[in-house]
Amino acid sequence: MPPESAKKTPMNPVRNTRPFALDPLFRRVTELSGIGPRNGTLFEKLCGGDKILDVLWHKPIDFIDRRFTCAIKDAPAGHIVTLTVTVQKHFPNERKSQPYKVWCTDDTGTLNLVFFRPRKDWLEKQLPVGAQVIVSGRIEYYNGTAQMTHPDAMGGPEDRAAIETVEPIYPLTQGLTNKIVRKAVLGALDILPALPEWLDESYKKQNRWPDWSAAVNSLHNPSGANGLDPLHPARMRLAYDELLANQLALAMVRHHNKRKKGRAYETGGGLRDTFLGTLPFTLTRAQQRSLEEIDNDMKQPLRMLRLLQGDVGSGKTVVAALAMLNAIASGAQAAIMAPTEILARQHARSLQPWLEACGIRSVVLTGRDKGKMRETLLQQIRNGAAQIVIGTHALFQDSVEFADLGLAVIDEQHRFGVHQRLMLSAKGKGVDVLVMTATPIPRTLTLTAYGDMDVSKLDEKPPGRKPVDTRLIASDHIEQMVEGIIRQIKTGARVYWVCPLVEESEILDLAAAQERYEVLQARFGDRIGLVHGRMKPAEKDAVMENFTNGALDILVATTVIEVGVNVPEATIMVIEHAERFGLSQLHQLRGRVGRGAEKSYCFLMYAGNLTRTAKERLSIMRETEDGFAIAEKDLELRGAGEILGTRQSGLPVFRLAELPVHADLLATARDDSRLIMEKDPTLENERGQALRTLLYLFERDQAIGYLQSG
Ligand code: ADP
Ligand code: MG
Repeated sequence: MPPESAKKTPMNPVRNTRPFALDPLFRRVTELSGIGPRNGTLFEKLCGGDKILDVLWHKPIDFIDRRFTCAIKDAPAGHIVTLTVTVQKHFPNERKSQPYKVWCTDDTGTLNLVFFRPRKDWLEKQLPVGAQVIVSGRIEYYNGTAQMTHPDAMGGPEDRAAIETVEPIYPLTQGLTNKIVRKAVLGALDILPALPEWLDESYKKQNRWPDWSAAVNSLHNPSGANGLDPLHPARMRLAYDELLANQLALAMVRHHNKRKKGRAYETGGGLRDTFLGTLPFTLTRAQQRSLEEIDNDMKQPLRMLRLLQGDVGSGKTVVAALAMLNAIASGAQAAIMAPTEILARQHARSLQPWLEACGIRSVVLTGRDKGKMRETLLQQIRNGAAQIVIGTHALFQDSVEFADLGLAVIDEQHRFGVHQRLMLSAKGKGVDVLVMTATPIPRTLTLTAYGDMDVSKLDEKPPGRKPVDTRLIASDHIEQMVEGIIRQIKTGARVYWVCPLVEESEILDLAAAQERYEVLQARFGDRIGLVHGRMKPAEKDAVMENFTNGALDILVATTVIEVGVNVPEATIMVIEHAERFGLSQLHQLRGRVGRGAEKSYCFLMYAGNLTRTAKERLSIMRETEDGFAIAEKDLELRGAGEILGTRQSGLPVFRLAELPVHADLLATARDDSRLIMEKDPTLENERGQALRTLLYLFERDQAIGYLQSG
């Protein structure tokens, strides 16, 4: 969604449509010859889209080199070779189960071609007796004689050039063969348009990068192993294109926001003093520093767009509250938005006592509020009676109108997209935006998700936190662990028990959690509760509430407790099948304990037969509690695609760029984008026009919308 202001500006129909040159790439893959309608869905599954463009971005992962030719007597066993032979005689099979053999020779020896269940007439046509043919495939030896079972390619001497090639191998999905994928790719390469160059010429030259179309051709026609290397010039160029599109789009959003007039707020003042006076603690140095940075932004008559990054428990909420006071002291409203109902309620629980003590009126609005209740809340937001609004994405809805929204705080931002962020800020004039994330995102990924956003870091925890004693437990030692937990509970401990993550299936997650819950219930009776994503919000809250107030000792959960929950009495975290979680997720989960005065434990259970690397990975959790270090390690070990469970993370998924391998390119793309915004912010000059094509090519159309609004 473009921001409100972009919608109101009439679009220039010529400048704001996709360049014609790109049209062929946006057609469906089924429009290519030889790709049937049934393949459409398969390609969509395989390539993440069913456009011709999606096929182009589907990179080969391997290749078969058919360029090796030799005489039959020199053909090496187990290798792919292309041989020129003369057909001597066909030996059709007598029974179905037997192979059909074709005896061939050259000057040096004999080669048997072997076929199972072939069509006889077809074979006789392909391999006429007495003819010279070219066959390519894997060589085996049977009783000392060379043979080739089902050659990959056969033809006459005129087909030599077509056979002696390097054949790229693509990732596949059931129902799609490499042949069909290759056919689609070749079809796509056939209609590759010539596009204007959007790269800086001297940068391109310095790296010896090819033109875009040459790069795409080379991506799909690797001439050897180095063609698969992410550092190959063609792959580097394409990765850079993708990262540049990403960074440029973000830079445009940011530029647009910055240029927009914001409001200058009074910071500090009496309200802040009152608030600080009600806190049972003093701010850490990191909190003070972040607050100063926020104050500086809010004082300026420009829009703030700042990311507050801090590990779990680093105390972001207080900082957000103090920022909101700035807006309120100047008569504006503030909103804080959380990704889930539970988190919104929790923000309310921790914020409201402080706010009330300062005489500030706040309301909570989530999707659960219906009917009359909702009307009342909406009215309070509309007439300004509600100074602070705490909520979920329900705050985006059109029916939510603010009297005067001055600051939007967005918590756990990685679950929201950039555009949702903008939608909330479009609900007021010149709204300042503070984004908070509890997930330590490695620097490289921060760039891809936020671009060159201003960042404040809470890199220091409130005093008095004890390290969490983290242990790896093989699952067959579960009994000893449970005994230990029982002893701890007797002394007042509360326990989170996180159940196995079964990939991509909420239902399976639930079954596993349910089963564990029942087993533990036999031991712990009604002192144990279960929460999962499929529960009604009210039920979920009731269970959480019982755990918070101590009516429950153990909370069995799917990963719904992943973010934000704050129960200082909880001192034990059990995570089953820890090996199935990302390190960053484990870190998040572990952050739920160690929040109170008592010593805390985290038990990472794993299935007995872990590989050494998998175990090493888990050991990192034992070595450090620094979320940023863990996130970097996670990125290094798993790649960006999997970190944070990308699908739900809102982080962009790259098709051509591979992080962290291309991390340097990302930094350059950021600098490049920054310069472009300085020199030609509306993409008007020659390179600017080409960059528009780039944005469309990588489907960042929305960014173009920002060009229109001042
Ligand atoms: P985050 O949102 O960064 O995970 P919270 O804001 O929920 O962390 O803070 C975690 C806990 O630490 C809360 O109970 C909060 O009241 C407390 N806290 C925050 N700042 C301080 C501080 N400076 N000193 C002591 N406790 C603090
Ligand atoms: Mg928080």
